[in-house]
Amino acid sequence: MRSSAPRPGIAIVTPVFNEEAVLPELLARLTAVFDTHPGCNWRAILVDDGSHDGSATLIRVQAERDPRFALVELSRNFGFQSALSAGLIQAASADAVVTMDADLQDPPEVIPALVAAWREGAEVVRAVRRSRAERGVRRAGFDLFHALYGRLTDYPIEPNSGTFGLLGRAAVEAFNRLPERHRYFPGLRAWIGFPTANVQYDRQER
Ligand code: UDP
Ligand code: MG
Repeated sequence: MRSSAPRPGIAIVTPVFNEEAVLPELLARLTAVFDTHPGCNWRAILVDDGSHDGSATLIRVQAERDPRFALVELSRNFGFQSALSAGLIQAASADAVVTMDADLQDPPEVIPALVAAWREGAEVVRAVRRSRAERGVRRAGFDLFHALYGRLTDYPIEPNSGTFGLLGRAAVEAFNRLPERHRYFPGLRAWIGFPTANVQYDRQER
């Protein structure tokens, strides 16, 4: 049984594109989460998506210092969805995979709550914003997108959710078997099915 496994392997997958300004804080906050939750076998897979800044170097130095961190370096900028897909393939042996952005709008401190929801039986866990920091035109754009997307699909996505969440191993396997090359992660996450849970959190300003 899942809950009797002493130390589940949890991988964090994060696409990174020109994030040298926030990476030191992200790496420190992930380390703090890992250190305060020794009940899991943590691994962070940071996918450098062809950054032009020092992002890859920062991740490489961290990986040399702490084997819980790994760098996957793409040969050029492929875009967020492709970088995420590359990370999910690398993470296929984990019991569960947390997907998140690098820019700290997805707070690492929420990760233990995602893992807890998974250990209670959810195969897909979505982190859902209690409040969105965006306003104005950007906010209106998101609202319009979700209104249109909701009318076009039989598998609507939770409007206040994005990449941030967790996939159990079966969901990761399903995702990795999808034939789509041009992917929209939250849409496919809704489409693959599986028992799903939401975890509420407050989203930070970029
Ligand atoms: N990102 C990436 N490749 C890109 C653009 C972005 O890997 O070509 C990463 C970026 O570093 C961040 C995540 O994808 O970790 C989300 O990007 P961003 O914050 O720009 O998207 P938004 O939050 O505006 O949806
Ligand atoms: Mg962002």
